[in-house]
Amino acid sequence: MPLTEFNLIERYFAHKGSSRDDVSLSIGDDCALLNVPAGFELAVSIDTLIEDVHFPKGTRPEAIGHKSLAVGLSDLAAMGATPAWATLSLSLPEIDESWLQGFTTGLFGLAEKYQLQLVGGDTVRGPLVITVQVHGFVPEGLALKRSGAKPGDGIYVTGTLGDAGLGLLVAQGKSRANTKDANYLRRRLDCPTPCNEAGLSLRNIAGACIDISDGLAADLGHILKASGIGATLQVSQLPLSDSLRNSVSQEEGIRLALTAGDDYELCFTVPVEKEAALAELPVSFTRIGIIEAQSELRLLDENNLSYPMEHNGFDHFRK
Ligand code: ADP
Ligand code: MG
Repeated sequence: MPLTEFNLIERYFAHKGSSRDDVSLSIGDDCALLNVPAGFELAVSIDTLIEDVHFPKGTRPEAIGHKSLAVGLSDLAAMGATPAWATLSLSLPEIDESWLQGFTTGLFGLAEKYQLQLVGGDTVRGPLVITVQVHGFVPEGLALKRSGAKPGDGIYVTGTLGDAGLGLLVAQGKSRANTKDANYLRRRLDCPTPCNEAGLSLRNIAGACIDISDGLAADLGHILKASGIGATLQVSQLPLSDSLRNSVSQEEGIRLALTAGDDYELCFTVPVEKEAALAELPVSFTRIGIIEAQSELRLLDENNLSYPMEHNGFDHFRK
């Protein structure tokens, strides 16, 4: 017998995953009832994933479930917020139980890693579109905003850049990689690991922070604009993975690191007097440049000569 909407919610979403003490009422009523602890601000972010825009057609449902939540967790990481709750709006072309099984495995697998509870949502029939709103807590006044960068601060990024962008080009047949590297790059595209542990550690260290979803140049550009300053990056310092280096020229690697989307690493600035505290960061990170009073972003090569580059990030509305 085909599942009804109600049975689908019961079978796949209600009473699944973590059950938190700060949730008075979860899935099953008109609203969830939630309690923000005293002394904390609620950090909220929402993201929509559309088939063929945010993930290639044919992406494994586990990966779609994982990524739907990972992009929101990455926003919480960038604010220094501890993940707590999520709501999910799901538009499905049909009820496909094996797809739902895979999707919820990916979604709840990542949710449980952060003791995040799914507390509500909406289920409709339509093209495959997934919207997840995440909610997290940050101690009052300690959120990592984009506006906190100052001249002299070092600019840092976590992990490596450009892998997901190259993974997409390989998936589309526009670039080539050996099987091992192609698998690694595809995993970076499908199953990004949000940097929440790093985000929490940066609460008392970073001046400004952003997650890199639309390409480093564009996202760092948001910090520069919000903080009213500029920056110089050393392109030879951009952290590139072995799989990326194996697969493309250095020039293409730098282009991908600066402009390709879907990295979900953090870019953050650190005042000189806090640099020593970075040693405690629980992830790999690289210093890539410096904040300056002069506005705009400047790129230098290893000989300190100006490095030419169009550095636009992804824009849904660009023709
Ligand atoms: P309403 O008609 O009052 O909006 P719904 O029938 O849409 O309620 O949903 C019933 C309950 O199931 C609500 O608590 C809602 O939050 C939850 N819900 C619906 N779809 C999902 C989903 N995809 N994931 C999680 N919870 C969901
Ligand atoms: Mg509803």
